[in-house]
Amino acid sequence: MSRRDFLTVASLAAVAATVPSLHAQDAAPALKKGGRAPGATNGGGPTHPLIDIHVHQGSDAMRAAGAGKKGFGGRTEAQFLAHQKAVNAIGGVILGGNDYEYEFMKQEPGRYVRFASAMAPAGDRAAAVEKSLKNGARGIGEHRWEGDIPFSWSILDMARDYKVPILFHFEQSAFPKGVYGDFYKVIEKYPTVTFIGHAIDWWGSIDKNYDPTKGNYPRGRVTPGGLTDLWLGRYPNLHCDLSAQSGNTALMRDPDFAKDFVTRHQDKIMFGSDCTCSQGGMPTCWLAIKLVALNFLQLSPEVQQKIYLTNAAKMFNLKIA
Ligand SMILES: [Zn+2]
Ligand SMILES: [Zn+2]
Repeated sequence: MSRRDFLTVASLAAVAATVPSLHAQDAAPALKKGGRAPGATNGGGPTHPLIDIHVHQGSDAMRAAGAGKKGFGGRTEAQFLAHQKAVNAIGGVILGGNDYEYEFMKQEPGRYVRFASAMAPAGDRAAAVEKSLKNGARGIGEHRWEGDIPFSWSILDMARDYKVPILFHFEQSAFPKGVYGDFYKVIEKYPTVTFIGHAIDWWGSIDKNYDPTKGNYPRGRVTPGGLTDLWLGRYPNLHCDLSAQSGNTALMRDPDFAKDFVTRHQDKIMFGSDCTCSQGGMPTCWLAIKLVALNFLQLSPEVQQKIYLTNAAKMFNLKIA
């Protein structure tokens, strides 16, 4: 660990004390040690309210129907809501939520939307996506960018024809036909479609020297001029999802670059977690780690309001007042 890395980690640990935890007994000693009086100007309150645009959550109805079968585990809707409450998430996009019935969506229909996806490469995936769109899904994703295969063009045509956003996961090392460097041609082919980008190649490619055939999580200073950065500047219909470990790494590896990147693209960046844990606190929750990383950047209040809340509220027409 270099001296600079050590300083960064130490500083992040200090900020971590301000991230709420589900376990009040964990948070209390840290707050006492910090010695901040209630009402102090630089901390003590909840983190910024946010919309989480990258949620994977099954419905309790599906869990009940599939009880005991493989793939029907995971957290309950109540655990999901507790997770989101712990980090002040007040709405979200349920990726692959398709046409499933969620109790929390019935309670607050203005705060959540479902996206349609068919991840398993079996059956008529395009038909499954279209069925969900017809039943009220308001976007498509997430889907791996699998490159030039019929399914890719089917879902892109649907995004255009149903006028809904489409969220792609870029990981060329796992899907070699999905060449990241060529994706700009897809954006240009569908100028009316709203694209949202995420995952390892998306974030690796903030750096000019990233190699998507290797698919790793680079550390250290960013070399400016990466494709993702260029494309966000060039294409008004391309947007950015902060989710996952890849997003966390990108925010933390070079805080000076990250602050500049987020500030320059402030109208196109949206908070997302991709976290499926049931804790909602430090030190393992991806969402909590992302809040720590973003707090460390000390973004302006205007930028925070956009990336946490208003960019997503506008794109998905959420009622968050
Ligand atoms: Zn993904
Ligand atoms: Zn979590």
